Amino acid sequence: MTSPSTSPDRSTPERVDIAVIGAGPAGAAAAIQAARAGASVMVFDKAPYGRDKVCGDGLTPRAVGALNDLDIELDDAHYIAGLRMIANKTERELPWPDTTRFPNHGAVWPRRRLDAALIDAASEAGAVVHWETEALPRLDGDRVIGVTAGDRVIDADLTIVATGAPGQVARMLGAERVADEPFGLAIRTYAESPRHADRHLEACLTLRDDAGTPVPGYGWMFPAGDGTVNIGVGALSTMKGFKSLNLNNLLESYRGIVQDSWSLGPNLERPRAWRLPMSAQKRHGAGWVAIGDAAGLVNPMNGEGIDYGLESGMLAADLFIESPSMAPSRYDVAVGERFDSFLRTGRRFSFLIGHPWILRSGLRMAVGTEAIANITLQVMGNLVDSESKGASAKVLNLADKSLALADPLLRRTRAAA
Ligand SMILES: Cc1cc2nc3c(=O)[nH]c(=O)nc-3n(C[C@H](O)[C@H](O)[C@H](O)COP(=O)(O)OP(=O)(O)OC[C@H]3O[C@@H](n4cnc5c(N)ncnc54)[C@H](O)[C@@H]3O)c2cc1C
Repeated sequence: MTSPSTSPDRSTPERVDIAVIGAGPAGAAAAIQAARAGASVMVFDKAPYGRDKVCGDGLTPRAVGALNDLDIELDDAHYIAGLRMIANKTERELPWPDTTRFPNHGAVWPRRRLDAALIDAASEAGAVVHWETEALPRLDGDRVIGVTAGDRVIDADLTIVATGAPGQVARMLGAERVADEPFGLAIRTYAESPRHADRHLEACLTLRDDAGTPVPGYGWMFPAGDGTVNIGVGALSTMKGFKSLNLNNLLESYRGIVQDSWSLGPNLERPRAWRLPMSAQKRHGAGWVAIGDAAGLVNPMNGEGIDYGLESGMLAADLFIESPSMAPSRYDVAVGERFDSFLRTGRRFSFLIGHPWILRSGLRMAVGTEAIANITLQVMGNLVDSESKGASAKVLNLADKSLALADPLLRRTRAAA
């Protein structure tokens, strides 16, 4: 591995092993892992240090496991013991499942602080981070040979695209989301609440839009333990009327539902919305890989993306260390083996619950008994232990097979309009 050459002469390209575009959780994880293994890494983010990503700030046990793998201390995060699922009048408080693979607790960690902890760890490991610097891939034919960033020209053996929901970089590389696959939209703000130190994430599964149509998605109260709660709602593009869905109204109507039980104060900031990409046309090519949201790695069943960003970032770095030239193609295979079947099942499931009547009866079943609700939590959180022969693994397997058979029908009969 080479040490970064930082030529003052801007006409001569600088050289690093890895250039990372985007300093969110995915880019930071890749930078930490690669720099600790001795690679020279340069990270670029167009936002300033301390930028706030629109997010629910919720970390499942899977995400806590990934942070543990990166040796990130969680002292600054709020400990979460489980999930409270609410569907109409049914309320179930469920502990996170015990598995051999993941810790049995989650966390809420406001993104401003989580992302700073991650990128600080990358800098400590030796990665050089440039803020307020937009970077774009440099192409030589189909091969990405590095980046341009402001007036810098960087040569890199691998360029890691960690740019979040697809934008200009994805367009340049043909890595936008797949047009007829589902995606999500979500909105959030913060408010003060005396219940800010609650130990459960809360999810309300029975939201309705302005026309009274059940919304595939959920409203959340994620207690941050710092006097505030993160309140938000998210919806899947598979519902009828998605294009005219007003997220601000949906959030207000959800606020009405939780206002009293959480003694909510006024919004501390204007609610902000953002996209949840759930597919990508490409996630690698010669000289580059895409990770996290840029690779469409968001769980369609719960909107979780932080863990997938961390895991895919670490994976890309590990494979580069093993073999720089083989890393892109091997990454695509490895990330696919780890996530594709689950994410495909999740996307098919999201077509299914786009139909209000299926959503209503599915929900009745999902929270109907404590045992089934526990399975729902484990399956939807992608917390099924691959070695486990338990009920959750069987449900996931069955869902995988039956939804695969139903796939053409699901797409033909999609509810969205
Ligand atoms: C409302 C909402 C709630 C959510 N709640 C949760 C939750 O509770 N838990 C969870 O796990 N996930 C949640 N998600 C998803 C989660 O926020 C994302 O999956 C996660 O941020 C992905 O991380 P990332 O590093 O891939 O991308 P990002 O965090 O989006 O980071 C991308 C970075 O790239 C930078 N960038 C982009 N283009 C360039 C460029 N050309 N040059 C330089 N820099 C560039 C951006 O400035 C940004 O800092 C939520 C999403 C939304 C919208």
